[in-house]
Amino acid sequence: MSLVLSGISVTRGVAIGKSVVLHPDQPEISEHTIPRPLLQEEVTRYRVALRKARQQLHDIRKRIPADTPGDITAFMDAHLLMLDDGVLSEAPVKIMRARQCNAEWALKLQRDTLVRVVEEMDDPYLRTRRDDVDHVVNRILRNLQGQYDPDHDGRGGQLRGAILIAADVSPAETMLMHQQGIAAVVTEYGGPNSHTAILARSLGLPTVVGVHQLRRYLRSGEPLVVDAENGMVIAGADAGELVYYRRRQREERRHVAELNKLRERPAVTRDGHAVTLMANVELPEEATAARRLGAAGVGLFRTEMLFLNRETLPEEDEQYEAYLRVVRAMKGVPVTIRTLDLGADKCLGTRPRTPAASNPALGLRAIRWCLKDPGMFSPQIRAILRVSAHGPVRMMIPMLSGEGELLQALRLISEEKKALEREGIRFDPAMPVGGMIEVPAAALAADILARHLDFFSIGTNDLIQYTLAVDRLDEEVNYLYDPLHPAILRLIQLTIRAGRRAGIPVAMCGEMAGDPYYTRLLLGLGLREFSMFPATLLEVKRVINGSKLETLDRDVRRVMRSRSSARVTALIDELNRPR
Ligand code: PEP
Ligand code: MG
Repeated sequence: MSLVLSGISVTRGVAIGKSVVLHPDQPEISEHTIPRPLLQEEVTRYRVALRKARQQLHDIRKRIPADTPGDITAFMDAHLLMLDDGVLSEAPVKIMRARQCNAEWALKLQRDTLVRVVEEMDDPYLRTRRDDVDHVVNRILRNLQGQYDPDHDGRGGQLRGAILIAADVSPAETMLMHQQGIAAVVTEYGGPNSHTAILARSLGLPTVVGVHQLRRYLRSGEPLVVDAENGMVIAGADAGELVYYRRRQREERRHVAELNKLRERPAVTRDGHAVTLMANVELPEEATAARRLGAAGVGLFRTEMLFLNRETLPEEDEQYEAYLRVVRAMKGVPVTIRTLDLGADKCLGTRPRTPAASNPALGLRAIRWCLKDPGMFSPQIRAILRVSAHGPVRMMIPMLSGEGELLQALRLISEEKKALEREGIRFDPAMPVGGMIEVPAAALAADILARHLDFFSIGTNDLIQYTLAVDRLDEEVNYLYDPLHPAILRLIQLTIRAGRRAGIPVAMCGEMAGDPYYTRLLLGLGLREFSMFPATLLEVKRVINGSKLETLDRDVRRVMRSRSSARVTALIDELNRPR
């Protein structure tokens, strides 16, 4: 009988192979007292382990092929930086000296402190840093305990076609094992937003995370099937199941080959309507990958990443350089740079700058925070204006809720333009300024906002959260987070119509835009610009190229008359059927 374990799906794809359990045992750690005269020796032992960890990561970094997307190497650089930081190079040494304890114990105490800081932040971006802390700390620990196994860092090993089973894997390990031909990754921990998950998506590696107790049930060498799309791992599959999954594998390969052919083709419906597909980018390095996939521009550059995980604000020049890298990578297609969306779940530095608010998502966030702190906002406006001299750049303001704050923001932009003019610094005086429609008030008042803006972009992630009063990060109410709620569809329609009447383009950059399930619905609602996580771009293009607008109009009118999400779902299933 087969054993089925389930977890969280991170990518699609099916893999069939034998398991390889990585680091079967987490290093065991206990406290020992070190006699004072031997303490210096213990400190040296720690420094040597740290040096080895650094050397290993450098070696891995060097072996990564030159054409690897920058976001992947960025994760490894972050780990190297962490090894150099005082929090790991000095703090454990201080603990060893103060407590007269062994290096492993000091490192464990320091790791616990770092994880506490990260967890207290309650910040999804920083929560992924918890994994980073563990990956780096475990590497030092393995070196301290002489457990470091070079095979797992990519030298030799029998990994081709194998399925990696681990408590967790670092981005560096994932990358190397991918190079050695690993077929899939399954982990006990980790969430869909961890760096390893992002990397797995970008490598197209079938991956399932969060399979509890995985290593209790599986040993190395067991035949396994990984159904990544459905978040399942099957041990001891019977002949019928194997036939089924082999067929799925073949279909998947054909599907990927077909999708890749679409890279160079335009996104056009069967009845000749052109659609613009753009990419959402968080790190400058991701722009190259987006361009390779044929993105017609960047529809959302989330600039927050430049501001997170640090104590001081990036200066105007640092921002300018980062934005310029995206503009250069996109080689002449438009780049939409969103002004800071800090607040709520995204905090500055290692500590929130705002006093704890009882409703942070409704508090000082995004444009509200920027308007309150021109010292933070002005350098960003200047940096964006300056890059507009180097290519088609658009500025986009998040979380607008009314005309007043929009006018205030536009006034600041115009003042910075005058200042740059006075200083003789080049910029595009006609740089378009758009607004995100992600608060219900903005959608309802879209006609008013449209009079002052050059484009809209609908942020469905927040629009759904705010319209349905469902915290997007709260798992308890996840079941209410429904993109097909009639209220959401009406607000999307209202925004698209307001944009059309005002003669300004309307894009969508929330997750809904990148989910092929909604593509035909959104086309039928009149959307012609989609911006999404690059990995889904070709899939959405495939749906667009197989759709006819003529028939969609009528079908979507039926959807809009429906009163429940269940009815809407049934109609969309019908709409999505191949025709
Ligand atoms: C959105 O809210 O849909 C959006 C794209 O912005 P973010 O996810 O960064 O809040
Ligand atoms: Mg948003």
